[in-house]
Amino acid sequence: MIIDCHSHAEYLGYTVDKALENMDKYNIDKAWLLTLETLESEFDPFLYHYGTFGNKEEGAMPFSVALKWYEKAPGRFILGYGIDPRRPEAIDRLKTAMELFNVRVYGEIMLRMTYDNPDAIRMFRFCGENDLPVIVEVMYPYPNEGGRYPRPDWWYGGSLDAYERAIAMCPETVFFGHGPGVWSHISGDDKYLTETYPKGEVVPGGKLVEMMQKYDNFYCDLSAYSALNALKRDVEFSRQFILEFQDRMIYGRDNFSNDLQEFLNSLDLPKDVLDKIYYKNALRLVPLD
Ligand SMILES: [Zn+2]
Repeated sequence: MIIDCHSHAEYLGYTVDKALENMDKYNIDKAWLLTLETLESEFDPFLYHYGTFGNKEEGAMPFSVALKWYEKAPGRFILGYGIDPRRPEAIDRLKTAMELFNVRVYGEIMLRMTYDNPDAIRMFRFCGENDLPVIVEVMYPYPNEGGRYPRPDWWYGGSLDAYERAIAMCPETVFFGHGPGVWSHISGDDKYLTETYPKGEVVPGGKLVEMMQKYDNFYCDLSAYSALNALKRDVEFSRQFILEFQDRMIYGRDNFSNDLQEFLNSLDLPKDVLDKIYYKNALRLVPLD
């Protein structure tokens, strides 16, 4: 069995039929279908360029669209809902979505606020009490990526330090590390400040590694180019990293490619470790009904 912990509806120009066909092609049984309700004032309009329909009222990838996909193939999707925790009714709406539509994951959030915002902490604690894993994207401001008017840069979450404070404050909640602002910290260098996808050898002492050692409620979301790029910097290091934290590595894509499966399968990992990454860890967090 394979579970993709990080997928989106109407992203990269995929319809639900095309997405299901793609999942079949790569033997993916189920996918966690995440929202991205970041409002237009906070997200990089380049997202539209990546085949995101969205709308001004509900954000880039709204729950209403994820729900439409889920209803077409409820056996293939597990619904996530990353409502903005700054909305005063956020917890009530999430609770209702859990009851009405069986939402099992809180995510994805990608917001221009630090993730130790008190409203976010309240939401994260609610997620811990209700066994919803939390998926956020961390992205640093990269001023050299300017030119995308009207913002000088597009940062989300502030820094990995801010996310770490949230993780430390909510020990009962499971948090996923995702995005360039997490994965660039696989290495103990300063490239995370200037490069979205740093290359080069992995320097010991990366903050991501330290956090995996320190917090057993912190998991690696292996999806997206940010993770694959980081893992490819030093393949032998990554193999050991995956083996050491095999109970908290989760397979995901955040796109429709098979690159991560090809990479993982090339590492010569024991079958039981691959099973954990591909579905057992995900099932432990979100059991099937
Ligand atoms: Zn995503």
